[in-house]
Amino acid sequence: MRIPYVDPNKCQGAYICESIAPHTFKVNDEGISEVVNPEGDDEQAIQQAMDSCPYAAISWQET
Ligand code: SF4
Repeated sequence: MRIPYVDPNKCQGAYICESIAPHTFKVNDEGISEVVNPEGDDEQAIQQAMDSCPYAAISWQET
């Protein structure tokens, strides 16, 4: 299985991931996106969020 991972050192809080896959990503109080549910949205939406991040902060992680 693979799950999305946000690199907190790369994320700049652009909110794009949250707007595309809002059940998976949430930007926290510090302006960094966190994975709140790795299966919150379908894989296609998660992939789209990943591809849309301007800082390439999201990647798949094998579990
Ligand atoms: S789109 Fe990228 S930079 Fe923006 S909040 Fe999501 S992970 Fe962070």
